[in-house]
Formats: sequence, structure tokens, C-alpha cells
Amino acid sequence: MPSALSKLRVGPNSTLRLKDHPTDATFGWEKESAKAELADVIARIDVLQQRLAAEGKRSVLLVLQAMDAAGKDGTIRAITAGLNPAGFEVAGFKAPGGPETQHDYLWRVHAAVPAKGRVGIFNRSHYEDVLIVRVKGFVPKSVWSRRFAHITAFEQLLADEGTTIVKVFLNVSKEEQRQRLQERIDDPEKRWKFRKGDLDDRALWPKYQEAYQDAIRRTSTAVAPWYVVPADRNWVRNLAVAKILLETLERMNPKLPPPEDGIEGLIVE
Ligand code: ATP
Ligand code: MG
Repeated sequence: MPSALSKLRVGPNSTLRLKDHPTDATFGWEKESAKAELADVIARIDVLQQRLAAEGKRSVLLVLQAMDAAGKDGTIRAITAGLNPAGFEVAGFKAPGGPETQHDYLWRVHAAVPAKGRVGIFNRSHYEDVLIVRVKGFVPKSVWSRRFAHITAFEQLLADEGTTIVKVFLNVSKEEQRQRLQERIDDPEKRWKFRKGDLDDRALWPKYQEAYQDAIRRTSTAVAPWYVVPADRNWVRNLAVAKILLETLERMNPKLPPPEDGIEGLIVE
């Protein structure tokens, strides 16, 4: 449904205000039919993913960014369920450690960009280096503020060399996050996901919103647009992100390689 997706898409030089984007929008979609529709979208992604692999010339990078408990993991699980795992690469980015700390912040990111023919999903990304790093003051403003230009140049390089980039901000409300963090504390199966530090990040909510808004405004480009996806309802979030991925693959229109000469009509004995 291009109309809903085009509403989510952020254009270049945007003056987006996150507070104008409802976190509980449904676009008139129905929860009852969303499951079947998601299955249909995934089936179409499957066909195009296989064509992308057969073509072997280009790749897709889907970047997922969000506050804690907005559902990055759940989204990845939902939109890749039933697809060929060989066609996908998921890379998660935690606080840098070991050799990662000895290089520039894009070093580990560039190494994780999907190979030709593949769809890569980033669970967090280089954007952490203008988000948590900014909000927590890990580096001074003089350092992080230069990074928007690095990032747009880096993404332009990837695009020029055959990687189609789409970036998704899962936009969850502060109240929804409260409930989900509480659930992580209360449910023994989920407790491992909770860190006390999550509450420190939560306390900095307005600063994070400002940092996200700024990052989205400054790095939404024609070749690497952001989408702001309402994330309070998991079924809306999953269907929206799956549709974004499908639309991206459809636009790329990957082509099967031509068959060898003389195959048509051949009888296998
Ligand atoms: P969930 O959303 O389910 O809580 P998560 O992505 O938060 O999952 P965690 O292991 O809880 O996974 O946290 C990873 C942490 O690493 C996040 O707080 C993130 O901000 C932090 N991080 C990622 N990249 C960087 C970076 N470049 N510098 C500093 N911290 C980073
Ligand atoms: Mg976390």
C-alpha cells in the first residue's frame, strides 16, 4: 500500500518533528487480516530475494534503530520468518569492544554490509555513534556533529556500489516502553534482556528523541531514506517494515540471469 508507506518515508532536507508522528497509527489496516497480509508480503519478498541472489550484483541494507524494547528483534523475526536464511545476514551492534575500539566508528559497520545478492539487516548501526554517543556525551559535540557528513557520504558510497539502503526508526511511545520494560523485569523468560542501564537511557528520553529527530533530518537522503514506523502495535510495525522491504525489492526489480543458449526445449533423459 504505497500511500501508507509514503507517509512514513522521510524526504531529504526534512523538518520532521517526531512528536507529530503517532506511535499507534494503523493506517486503516485490520489486525485480523494483517497476519495473512504479512504472509503474502513475505511470500513476495521470498521470490524477489531469490532473484536478487540469482542476479548476484546488488544488495539491500535495512537499518533498524529504536529505543530499548521497541521491538527490533521481534521485527527481524517476523519479517524473515519462512524466508531462505541463506539470503539474509543479520548484524547487531552493541557497545564497541576489543579491536572495534581501535578503529574509526564505521570500520565495523562497513565490514558487516551485505555481500552482493544478499539482504542485510542491521539491529542498531552506525547511528548509535550520533545517538547514544551524543546523548551520553561519550565524545564532544565537535566530534559527533561531523559524523552526519561522514554517514551520508558512506551511505552514498554504498549506494553507488550497488547497495540499496532503507533505514527504519521504530517509533514507540514512552508509555509503551514502560510496559515492555516492566514485562522484561516481571517475566523470568524475558528478564535476561533487561539491564539496569535501560532505565538510565529511559530517563534521557527527551534527549534521545531530539538526537533521533536530528539524525533522521540530517541523514535522510534520496539514496538512503528514513522511515518512521509506528511501533506501539507489533502487528502494524511488522507489516509496515515488511512492506518497506518488499517495496524496496520491487523498485530494484532484480533480474534472473539469462539461461545458457540451447536450453529451451531440451529433454532430460
Ligand atoms: P533491546 O532493544 O531488545 O533492549 P538492544 O539492542 O538494546 O536490545 P542490548 O544488548 O540491550 O541490545 O544493548 C546494546 C547497547 O549497545 C545499546 O544500549 C546501544 O545503545 C549500545 N551501543 C551500540 N552501539 C554503540 C556505540 N557505537 N557506542 C556506544 N554504545 C553503543
Ligand atoms: Mg537493550
